[in-house]
Amino acid sequence: MIRLTRDRDPDAVPAAFVGAARTKNEKRLVDQLPTTQFEFDGEIWKKAKPQLSNESADKCAYCESSTRVVAHGDVEHFRPKSVYWWLAYCLDNYSFACQICNQVHKRDQFGVDAIAMAPPANPSAGSLAPDPLDRDAVDTFLALCKAEKPRFVDPYVENAELFFAWRADDVLREVEMLPRNKSGAKRKRALATIDGLGLNREELRKVRYESYRPLALLASLYDKLHESDRPELCIAIGSLLEPSMPYAAMRRWFVHEVWALPVP
Ligand SMILES: [Zn+2]
Repeated sequence: MIRLTRDRDPDAVPAAFVGAARTKNEKRLVDQLPTTQFEFDGEIWKKAKPQLSNESADKCAYCESSTRVVAHGDVEHFRPKSVYWWLAYCLDNYSFACQICNQVHKRDQFGVDAIAMAPPANPSAGSLAPDPLDRDAVDTFLALCKAEKPRFVDPYVENAELFFAWRADDVLREVEMLPRNKSGAKRKRALATIDGLGLNREELRKVRYESYRPLALLASLYDKLHESDRPELCIAIGSLLEPSMPYAAMRRWFVHEVWALPVP
């Protein structure tokens, strides 16, 4: 999991989430009040998919597997719409996730250490969620997100990479994901995220190893090469750490933290 940035270029934000269209979406929720069993229209959040998928380079925001070739990703509601109904059509509550992370593992799971968010006292269309192009409204919303301290790490709100570490097993040929910290809140949240999203499921451990192994072989050349040839190797390794690469956080962990190579 790496940090993701919301694209707020007016040309990138789908028209369905700004202006009159946004108000209309929220009216569909407000008109159902005082129900607690909302009916949602998935066609609305589907319109966010191209943007979300661009923001994460077609990778699942959680497990970093590529969805480019064999799977369609889902628009995932980080705060589940079954609880946070007023965020059902909130672009800032969405991420792009693979179907296994989203539908098999996370589902409606959530949990917060401090409740900081509630629907508006007098809900009206246009007041439920921030307009993604209104910087002040977005900042207020993101401050509430941080204050709420969710159990799961949010790649759009915090530097997700700093919560995790990885351990390779050359006998089992797999790479396990671990909390980076030995104690404290970050460790607790890392464990909750790994467990809740199934980030150590067998197929992921195996496929991460396939990504790790060639990198490890390349890194092992560093000490064998003449000093003058090392910068070229570091450039090659650096290209494998780009945010668009699958399992980029894991790759960076090994290169920077385990092998301590001078790769930018
Ligand atoms: Zn995933």
